[in-house]
Amino acid sequence: MAIEKRRITPDGFEAPLLGLGGMRMPDISQKKATAIINRAVELGVKYIETSPGYGDSEEKIGIAVEELGCRNRVYISTKSSRRGGAELRENFERSLARLRTDRFDFYHMWFVNDMDAFNALMSKGGALEEAKRLRDEGYFKRLGITTHAGNDDIRHFIDTGEFELVTLYYNAYDTGVEEVVQYAWGKGLGVVAMGPLKGGFLSSDNTEKMAFLRDEHAETNAQGALRWLAADERVSVLAVGYTEVEHVEQAYKAVTGPRMTPGKREEIVRGLKAFEKHKKEICSCCDYCKEHCPQGLPISSILTYLAQYEIYGIKEFAARRYNGLKTKGDACTACGACLEHCPQKLNIPELIEKAHATLGGG
Ligand code: SF4
Ligand code: SF4
Repeated sequence: MAIEKRRITPDGFEAPLLGLGGMRMPDISQKKATAIINRAVELGVKYIETSPGYGDSEEKIGIAVEELGCRNRVYISTKSSRRGGAELRENFERSLARLRTDRFDFYHMWFVNDMDAFNALMSKGGALEEAKRLRDEGYFKRLGITTHAGNDDIRHFIDTGEFELVTLYYNAYDTGVEEVVQYAWGKGLGVVAMGPLKGGFLSSDNTEKMAFLRDEHAETNAQGALRWLAADERVSVLAVGYTEVEHVEQAYKAVTGPRMTPGKREEIVRGLKAFEKHKKEICSCCDYCKEHCPQGLPISSILTYLAQYEIYGIKEFAARRYNGLKTKGDACTACGACLEHCPQKLNIPELIEKAHATLGGG
């Protein structure tokens, strides 16, 4: 069955609902990345999104797409967090080289998480001006914005009329952004859902605590979470990160099955409310903080083990994984250098300390 196509820009351009998010590419080999992209393209995935900030994701995708000879069958979408015009152009050219292409289909202003960032990119000689110049020169077709900002700010970004699509952190747990999903959709913009599985939080099959995510068409928790999102007609593309070929096949089944019912969707949201108290602890494993830690702490792994211990209750497993780390939480100096890079606004040093107190000693 073909993947449903949804409108992704105001001119009515459509993309298949299931996409490929490149954030997990640094975790896998080139061989596996190529196999995943190959299977995704075979199943009808077109929207492939990445960023120069996702480790070697752009390089891996570039090599895979070249090897598979599928450049004309996919839409490549990348981003820049640069705020100045010259820096943006430099970033853009580097992305073209890494992705081994001469053009992009979509380009996003990235990590625009507050008004200061937005005003900087909108300023004279800033990134937006340069991006539009690159679009006029034919280097990419459609301009988007990727944001974790508050809803009022996002509405303001949309109201400028500069963007054709918006990438939002939206999933069955993070439903606070739903009103801007509606707003963007109402204005004709495409909505790309990033973090559809909340960095793995919704896809852990180690826990029966979230069995309510599944319906009769979902064999796994991840499929249930994807089905929840796919049933929202306002979402254009799900940017799902895969680390196994099998995950692509599972996601394909999830989005091509019958739509999840509204009643089941509500049940899932209600079920996830029980985890609300952990909101300030759940790491989305974006790894934006990683390169900023002078101690080289594997922050996302540590916070994942803490969640596994505290939230999923798989204590022994989590403690074993934590104690197998080369660098553990006691290496954290609480310098705070990671804090401004966390889109989830987590108090990282505090959580790291808690993780070590809870899991350490093995
Ligand atoms: S506060 Fe800890 S985890 Fe964060 S950058 Fe400093 S040492 Fe690394
Ligand atoms: S702590 Fe924050 S920045 Fe670091 S991986 Fe987790 S969500 Fe991302």
